[in-house]
Amino acid sequence: MAPPALSVVVPAYNEAPVLQAFHRRLEAVMQRLGMSWEVVYVDDGSSDGTLDLLLALKAARPEVAVVALSRNFGKEAALTAGLDHARATDAIIVIDADLQDPPEVIPDLVAAWREGVDVAYAQRRSRAGETWLKRTTASAFYRVMQRLGGPVRMPADTGDFRLMSRRAVDALLQLRERHRFMKGLFAWVGFPSRAVLYDRDPRAAGSTKWNYRRLWTLSLEGITSFTTFPLRVATWLGLATAAFALVFGGWVVLKALLYGNPVPGYPSLMTVVLLLGGVQLVTLGVIGEYLGRVFNETKGRPLYVVGRHLPSGRPED
Ligand code: UDP
Ligand code: MG
Repeated sequence: MAPPALSVVVPAYNEAPVLQAFHRRLEAVMQRLGMSWEVVYVDDGSSDGTLDLLLALKAARPEVAVVALSRNFGKEAALTAGLDHARATDAIIVIDADLQDPPEVIPDLVAAWREGVDVAYAQRRSRAGETWLKRTTASAFYRVMQRLGGPVRMPADTGDFRLMSRRAVDALLQLRERHRFMKGLFAWVGFPSRAVLYDRDPRAAGSTKWNYRRLWTLSLEGITSFTTFPLRVATWLGLATAAFALVFGGWVVLKALLYGNPVPGYPSLMTVVLLLGGVQLVTLGVIGEYLGRVFNETKGRPLYVVGRHLPSGRPED
């Protein structure tokens, strides 16, 4: 079958409760667009029958492609697998399976792309169904990233839900780093882009795979993948401590010369030793974060392993 004009890439990990509803809504939207299309579902090692559901969908519909990974590799890897297997000639849409990204926004993304931008990203107007803590931590993170990111600008309140032209996807797929902070990678690629505002719905069913520990890891990933600023902070901390030590040391010597030295100073000694120890450990930790990433990248492993791949189209094509 000739490659379609549009591909929709959907990573799915344990999404059995919503998949059918998702596909129904997606299909309705895509058919109304009047362009040839396919949807590439990536089963990210689900354990709840998601794959069986996908295979059933695939059996009934020629637009469906299924890529089944050999185990759970995480959303970023699943997304990359989907982009690698998307055959679209014109544009590729990335959307979550849990209906938090409403498929009904896709026509707006396509409209923006038709007006000439390469990337149309869906930007949340509201964050319905999220706690105050999640909202504040998210906005703090975007602010930090915007400060540190240098020329790479990451739009706030934007997830992976977006449309990218073929050339933008091809550029993105050249970035094969293991630590895939997608928001950053999307931004790094560049190209003219535009925000399309929408209201993000709370999850339709199932549960989020994100908890604060994973969000913390993600933030660390974002910062260490896109800036070496923390390493510079380590240098500044070192310099500041050294400067302080010089002044303090001078004062201690002067005091000893003026007033003699009856061995006091246990509190100050202890404070300085503890403070320095702490600073050194934190600094080592920061260096370790980067070193660990260098280690992971040098192994050069593939980003994911495909267990099964069923391309879109009818078998006889
Ligand atoms: N996902 C995945 N692999 C994972 C975790 C999530 O493919 O290890 C998929 C998931 O099925 C969904 C999307 O990534 O389609 C977003 O996941 P989730 O809804 O848990 O994240 P959130 O919306 O809370 O950011
Ligand atoms: Mg979600």
